[in-house]
Amino acid sequence: MSSQLQSISRLRALLDEKKASATELAQEALRNAGQQSSLNAFVDIRDDLTLQQAKAADARLAAGETGALLGIPTAHKDIFVTQGWTSTAGSKMLAGYVSPFDAEVVVRLNAAGTVSIGKLNCDEFAMGSSNEKSAYGPCLNPWDTLAVPGGSSGGSAVAVAAGVVPFTTGTDTGGSIRQPASLCGITGIKPTYGSCSRYGMIAYASSLDQAGPMAHSARDCALVLNAMVGFDGKDSTSVQRPASNEDFTAGFGKPLRHGDTAKPLAGVRVGLPVEFFGEGLAADVRIPIDAALKQLESMGATLVNISLPRTELSIPAYYVIAPAEASSNLSRFDGVRYGHRAADYTDLKSMYENSRSEGFGLEVQRRIMVGAYVLSHGYYDAYYLKAQKIRRLIAQDFQAAFQQCDFIAGPVSPTVAWNLGEKSADPVQMYLADIYTLSTSLAGLPGMSVPVGFGDKNRPVGMQLIGNYFKEGELLALADHYQAATDWHLRTPS
Ligand code: GLN
Repeated sequence: MSSQLQSISRLRALLDEKKASATELAQEALRNAGQQSSLNAFVDIRDDLTLQQAKAADARLAAGETGALLGIPTAHKDIFVTQGWTSTAGSKMLAGYVSPFDAEVVVRLNAAGTVSIGKLNCDEFAMGSSNEKSAYGPCLNPWDTLAVPGGSSGGSAVAVAAGVVPFTTGTDTGGSIRQPASLCGITGIKPTYGSCSRYGMIAYASSLDQAGPMAHSARDCALVLNAMVGFDGKDSTSVQRPASNEDFTAGFGKPLRHGDTAKPLAGVRVGLPVEFFGEGLAADVRIPIDAALKQLESMGATLVNISLPRTELSIPAYYVIAPAEASSNLSRFDGVRYGHRAADYTDLKSMYENSRSEGFGLEVQRRIMVGAYVLSHGYYDAYYLKAQKIRRLIAQDFQAAFQQCDFIAGPVSPTVAWNLGEKSADPVQMYLADIYTLSTSLAGLPGMSVPVGFGDKNRPVGMQLIGNYFKEGELLALADHYQAATDWHLRTPS
């Protein structure tokens, strides 16, 4: 374990014991970000804004205020709009754009007293699994700079894994929190769809987009999630629940069902989908996951074999639905109301065409074309409607599985991080890497990635844990039990 691990609890202790001020922590984080700039995790840093937030946190601390996140440094994925810092979704289309307001998630974290170090690199409009499709260039995996960090929240994962900040925000549409967390050896959770407000999150696929925290441990994720979730009338899909001020750490350290401290997972059934452990799963990923499952078993959990029979269909269904929604969401970038406008055009049509061709990268253009196609007259029923029906069946498969188990476990990614450039030429190869994360997103279920070891070339491996709707408290408690017994989440790249 590295003594330099930037956990929230370590920094909390420094702040509470007055061994460091929020300003000193912010200065250290800014220094770290500068030293690690070759990883290309940050796309906008403004020391003055950071130090202003730190000063405000110090004033609150001096006034005797307490709070889990007060004075803790963080950074936000460039998908969240922020006042002061640029908000570009990793796209040339929004180069230099500064929002007049903060995303709701950012508002909530600011209110909790966090101090932002800046904005984090991501795949353009959150489309990608490698963070190579960013207008700012690729972000590098701190465990091995030849490897991708995963995507689309690559910068969010790297900033934590490289020890710049203890936690970051990410967004997950089809795996973009879980997969980079897995590939970078950190913990990340996508909560139930509707838990975190999407207000001010630059939209990719609205029925799938969901924000969540990325940190070293389940405990830190829970503390951040406490501040992030909650009903927001400004988001029409925000869920209003009686337990909206739920403390996600409430179940920590307690037996999950009826076990005792020696067997805290007694009575817990962990389902293993046969489709998640088939041919496509690399052996070097499978070995640490099998060991993690044994660990859960030794803590009292019962492993049960289950089936999610439409897992394979999640790829075509997702890659119809997400582009369809993206083509609609991205139509607002027309060179008139927002974003880049081409210098050369002859009429309105060529202004649209040139602005969009110059502003959007190739992957984004590909998805807009696919999306417009599957929504068009004559193809809507054959593709879009069919994909929606499959989506419903996938959600039903999960409910059938949850009759047999309390949680579902499996890999996040079929392989460890691949090399930069390795899958760039063939978009389908990149899409296939999402096989284990897409179905959870299509169903709107909470899912997380927990570090469980290392595979080939000493690249990190994450285990995915999936729960039923609004079970993120239990999910995090389960992960916390695992992390209390193991130290994979404490490892840091040298
Ligand atoms: N890799 C998936 C995609 O490219 C998921 C991205 C995401 O979750 N934002 O769409």
